[in-house]
Amino acid sequence: MIPTAKEINEIYDCVIIGAGPAGMTAAIFAQAKNMRAMILEGNQAGGQLKNLYPYKPVYNYPGYSKIPAGELADRMIEQIRDFNIPLMENSPIEDIVQFSENIFVISGKQFRVQAKSIILASGLGLSEPRRVGVPGESELEGNGIEYTITNIADWAGKDVAVIGGGNSAIDNALLLLENNAKVVLIHRSQLRAEQDSIEKLQKNNVPIHLGWKPSEFQKSGNGKVLFAIENDGKKMRLEKDKILINIGLKPNTEFLEKLAVDKNNKQILVDTEMHTSIPGIFGCGDAVTYPGKVRLIVTALGEAATAVNSLQRYLKTLQIPQEEVS
Ligand SMILES: Cc1cc2nc3c(=O)[nH]c(=O)nc-3n(C[C@H](O)[C@H](O)[C@H](O)COP(=O)(O)OP(=O)(O)OC[C@H]3O[C@@H](n4cnc5c(N)ncnc54)[C@H](O)[C@@H]3O)c2cc1C
Repeated sequence: MIPTAKEINEIYDCVIIGAGPAGMTAAIFAQAKNMRAMILEGNQAGGQLKNLYPYKPVYNYPGYSKIPAGELADRMIEQIRDFNIPLMENSPIEDIVQFSENIFVISGKQFRVQAKSIILASGLGLSEPRRVGVPGESELEGNGIEYTITNIADWAGKDVAVIGGGNSAIDNALLLLENNAKVVLIHRSQLRAEQDSIEKLQKNNVPIHLGWKPSEFQKSGNGKVLFAIENDGKKMRLEKDKILINIGLKPNTEFLEKLAVDKNNKQILVDTEMHTSIPGIFGCGDAVTYPGKVRLIVTALGEAATAVNSLQRYLKTLQIPQEEVS
């Protein structure tokens, strides 16, 4: 028996892994079909929208001409709460074991849940921001150095250095400008963002230091962040109120790597009905792939609906006594 602190004796029809757009939509559809479903989420609900780019406007979600991603996620979370769908946050899945032909056991450090079927909606995994990896960075994390803008009010009017050259860095630099921050952009190579966003930065006369990378951070006497940037032996010292580091993500998909499900380059292979290679395990959203796959919110939602339909057909083929697995 797997030792656990929190053991849920009920056998769920379906356990959904991940409370991003895909997982939350799957839960809504499962409940509409009277299934006993629950969601296990490793962080806070909301997926990439809430945890990665909460202030970025989403323009391609029908029904809203423009909506900040975090707000769109909040509306989905609200719906989950209104429908009383069980959601366990801060519960990263570490293992999935097929206990018997018809029962899966899903476990993390502090819990163990049983289910007749599973929907894998774990997106990019439990992503962590990439660190620059220079002295002083970890000491100032949360105290001058941040990796996400969680509350824009904390940045308004501040003197900020944004480090990074992809879409996230440039979009956040533009967001900071809109909120009256004074911004400088630093990136070790060429910018890789949308051209019109780069042009907006240039039109706003944002200083852009290309070819430069930070070499150390420290807190200055007046509470600001003092840091050095280097380029080919040259060194410059800067002092800013806050530093935003946006140099990408380090995905953690360990539990999926252990699961013997067919994958292509860490992405779960599904067919047109969202079946994985393991009967009873379905997938949707950014976690899955198939020919023609597009990684967008709307595709994640459509795949979630398809996964639940397929799962319903699968459950009808099962005959399971309601007894606890031990
Ligand atoms: C910067 C950026 C901007 C984007 N802009 C747009 C846009 O404008 N429009 C658009 O349509 N799409 C956009 N996308 C893509 C969109 O965000 C994704 O397609 C969408 O989030 C996929 O949803 P999902 O639910 O599959 O995955 P995710 O949103 O990644 O959610 C997966 C959830 O699973 C959880 N999870 C992962 N591993 C575990 C585990 N082991 N245990 C428990 N929980 C786990 C995660 O914590 C997460 O909450 C953007 C993406 C990025 C990075």
